[in-house]
Amino acid sequence: MDGLMMNVPLSVPALIGHADRCHGDTEIVSRSIEGPIHRYTYLDAHQRIRRLARALLRRGVDRGDRVGTLAWNGYRHFELYYAVAGIGAVVHTINPRLFHDQLVYIVNHADDRLVFFDICFAALVDKLAPQCPGVAAWVAMTDAAHLPEARLPTLLCYEDLVGAEDDDYEWPDLDETSACGLCYTSGTTGNPKGVLYSHRSTVLHALAIALPDVANLGAKSVVLPIVPMFHVNAWGLPYTAPLVGAKLVFPGAALDGKSLYALFEDEGVTHSAGVPTVWLGMIDYMKTNGLAFSTFRETIIGGSACPPAMMRTLREDFGVVVKHGWGMTETSPVATAGAQKGKHALLPDAARMAILEKQGRPLFGVEMKIVDAEGRELPRDGKTPGNVMVRGPWVASGYFGGEGGDVLAPGGWFPTGDVGTIDADHYLQITDRSKDVIKSGGEWISSIALENIAFSHPEVAEAAVIGLPHPKWDERPLLVAVRKAGSTLDRDALLAHFEGRTARWWVPDDVIFVDELPHTATGKLSKRSLRERFRHYRWPASDPAVTA
Ligand code: ADP
Repeated sequence: MDGLMMNVPLSVPALIGHADRCHGDTEIVSRSIEGPIHRYTYLDAHQRIRRLARALLRRGVDRGDRVGTLAWNGYRHFELYYAVAGIGAVVHTINPRLFHDQLVYIVNHADDRLVFFDICFAALVDKLAPQCPGVAAWVAMTDAAHLPEARLPTLLCYEDLVGAEDDDYEWPDLDETSACGLCYTSGTTGNPKGVLYSHRSTVLHALAIALPDVANLGAKSVVLPIVPMFHVNAWGLPYTAPLVGAKLVFPGAALDGKSLYALFEDEGVTHSAGVPTVWLGMIDYMKTNGLAFSTFRETIIGGSACPPAMMRTLREDFGVVVKHGWGMTETSPVATAGAQKGKHALLPDAARMAILEKQGRPLFGVEMKIVDAEGRELPRDGKTPGNVMVRGPWVASGYFGGEGGDVLAPGGWFPTGDVGTIDADHYLQITDRSKDVIKSGGEWISSIALENIAFSHPEVAEAAVIGLPHPKWDERPLLVAVRKAGSTLDRDALLAHFEGRTARWWVPDDVIFVDELPHTATGKLSKRSLRERFRHYRWPASDPAVTA
């Protein structure tokens, strides 16, 4: 027997429609690429989104067509999210930090019909355009006065397009399973692959991350996504903010500590989200200048493991609650979040912190398990590491264009490529990506655990641990670290810091200090580049296995 409830499809334009009706005077504030702060409301945004939708239709954008964006977090990018999806097309957010060849591949593979770009990417677009013949027009996200001097034959101006239309437009009925967004993985192995989100997956994910144990957002919140809108849709925040009626603050291209801090204070930001590296800059700037937050109180940190020492600094020195979020492009991205349970309140402080330092519990909708190399499920004992598998309504079932073939394991599980433990309360702890795992004497050593210890040394600014071939143990960990300014920390002192903090056989065999560590296009440590850089490295001659 069917239930007697209305069968209303979940849709992305419904989110902005709701924000317009119920939170029409709530602000969206952007640090614009042109310079000044831009300020308007959900009502204004929805009007311009409908005008943009008409402009897209006039340009021949059809249902299912892909529309690319090369843009920072800002109001025009937000408008594109809704206008493109609202007419039934697919917004394809492109990471401008990728290598030129990857950008060309992605634009052509997605077969983008139009590409919208921030004017700071004009030179990049000039180079891309001749290699992307399928793009009918490149649209500069600015007004006529700021139009870049591009050599493109097909350059259009965003404000001219929007200005030429009126907002008399009704959103069409859309199938909730139809595509609304496309985001490519960074392609650390092989070509990038496209993850294609649906209206249904996007709305369900937006609802799930609003919850108190995840981003904890409501109509009183002021949310500033530091994570870029080209990095898995800024983790869903541009969809969740209208859903709950939160004020949105977009930082544009200025992601340094000073600029971010000023925006947090000026706009009364309460909530945020970003990868660990951006918080390094912010903490450093605030400590150097003796600053404090007036309103900021909670953030999600994810994308890579947040070192416990960073969590502690944010909590104890700046009064900010940090929740770990774990996921990937293929999981929309949030799959788990780290919040305590009621029963944890009675635990001693150290035990409660140990729980928060894990990657968190699955959100409702996400199922998770760990398996061995043969696919057999492993115990949830918080100790045994295994390959992490997930499934759920916002987890990918395959890649755009059928790339990679059938990606799901039996039972419909998505293999995440991460290795971790799950405890009896279903908290996940990521120990490594499977390709970064260090295998020493037949056992696994967690590079993340070692990086966290190194980072907890007060004179270490950043640290990465990689496994390198070893004549006796198969592989051994090498620690590559960046000292804080002015520090003279040496190898032995840093290795001494590991004593008592981990098993003796986990302690790295050597330390190399460098001026900076390589990062990927999404701000993560690039272990692949590090392994490449140190491929001729030789273990110290004092190691008996090496001299033998
Ligand atoms: P890429 O790193 O290839 O650009 P994603 O942005 O989708 O792709 O990254 C997903 C990966 O990032 C995960 O598989 C995991 O290895 C890592 N990751 C994400 N969040 C966390 C976290 N909270 N802790 C540890 N690792 C994380």
